[in-house]
Amino acid sequence: MAVPKKKVSQSRRNMRRAHHALAPAAYHECPNCGELKRPHRLCGHCGHYDGREVVATTESA
Ligand SMILES: [Zn+2]
Repeated sequence: MAVPKKKVSQSRRNMRRAHHALAPAAYHECPNCGELKRPHRLCGHCGHYDGREVVATTESA
């Protein structure tokens, strides 16, 4: 339910916002080259995903 801004104390507002922190981004080692990459994303270093090369890179072509 909507509550007037002035009716919510700084303490209550800040207690509510205590859960609003951003979580750190997840990173995993690429099983092909060992570089850190985001899960469920292709590797930006070697261009591999799911055990095969999806995007050609200059050094692995
Ligand atoms: Zn890789």
